[in-house]
Amino acid sequence: MIVGMRFVHDTLPQRVCFGSGQAADSLAREAGRLGAGRVMLIASPGQQRLAREITRDVPVALRHDEVVMHVPAEVAGRARQAAAEHAVDALVSVGGGSATGLAKAVALTTGLPVLAVPTTYSGSEATPVWGLTEGARKTTGTDPRVLPAVIVYDASLTLSLPVALSVASGLNALAHCVDSMWAPGADPVNTALAAEGIRALRAGLPRIVADPLDLDGREHALYAAYLSAAAFASAGSGLHHKICHVLGGKYNLPHAQAHATVLPYVLAFNGPAAPAAEQRIATALNDTAANDTAANDTALNDPGRALDRLLALARELDAPRALADYGFTADSVDTAAEEILPSVPPSNPRPVTVEDLRRLLHAAWSGADPRTVG
Ligand code: NAD
Repeated sequence: MIVGMRFVHDTLPQRVCFGSGQAADSLAREAGRLGAGRVMLIASPGQQRLAREITRDVPVALRHDEVVMHVPAEVAGRARQAAAEHAVDALVSVGGGSATGLAKAVALTTGLPVLAVPTTYSGSEATPVWGLTEGARKTTGTDPRVLPAVIVYDASLTLSLPVALSVASGLNALAHCVDSMWAPGADPVNTALAAEGIRALRAGLPRIVADPLDLDGREHALYAAYLSAAAFASAGSGLHHKICHVLGGKYNLPHAQAHATVLPYVLAFNGPAAPAAEQRIATALNDTAANDTAANDTALNDPGRALDRLLALARELDAPRALADYGFTADSVDTAAEEILPSVPPSNPRPVTVEDLRRLLHAAWSGADPRTVG
């Protein structure tokens, strides 16, 4: 039999525990399984109370609360020193990607196992990617030591995430999914994960906007956060992530909001050159419980364009629209475009010039209609 499908896919070794209201029990059980006796608990000051509650049955030897977005090198240095001074044997992070990122920075040099309890949809917990910022330059790398051994997903911990941040963070997860469709390591497994992630976000995010305490909506989003990151972890960074990497590291833009803003522009740019991916994204964005009436059968059969679907969702969610709202300035466009260009994957569905990047960034800066960059 001759078949055309050929791929090599790495599946990452992680234990994923998912259950609302289960964080404390899961953490105690999983810390025990790992034989942890002296745990370093990493959580920002605002998350310390929650962290204390869910680690009540975990042997915590050290509480560390210096958590800063994009992990400045000196912050990582202090956390590593504290870990060594207290002879900890495991790391528990409670919080968003910034808390997870700090735990990863400690794991990178110590090899200590990480148990991650995410409270946003950033997905950092499901990737072996670490990031450190020195001055205005963000360095990232991939190392199996930083992949959390255990993820504890408890959607009840995300109920307090403000709606605007939930939307931005959920669209950060959506960006992992969309970029995975054409990233250098895209394969049938990670694109399947990504498509299911898009479906779950399409179902969950509007429910969170309608009612931030909707646990079912939160579970959909958190489930999607995992899928999106599992897809991204094996597909690698596509054009979208290369752009946002520079925006976060050099211009210190808030991570989730930058991703949420840039995504429609990258989809507008790449979509027409990647018809199979575009169709898959459109179908996933169209496949919601809201479409299960007979009247919507036609819409289900014809998902339309992915960009139209994404823009409709963004309007429904009142999503971030312009990088100018987050501190990016028009006079940074040229420098940013030049810095991004060398990192654009050669396998991007269409060639990218510095002028393309300028046009894309300028439109994203002002919040212009993304269709103008297609
Ligand atoms: P974050 O962790 O900085 O959190 C954003 C804000 O939300 C913070 O003020 C935090 O205290 C607050 N917050 C978090 N959870 C909350 C909750 N449940 N209720 C109320 N407030 C809450 O932001 P993020 O977007 O989750 O993560 C961004 C960082 O993660 C960046 O540094 C980014 O580079 C990194 N990241 C890394 C990867 C990777 O694979 N390595 C993937 C995604 C993001």
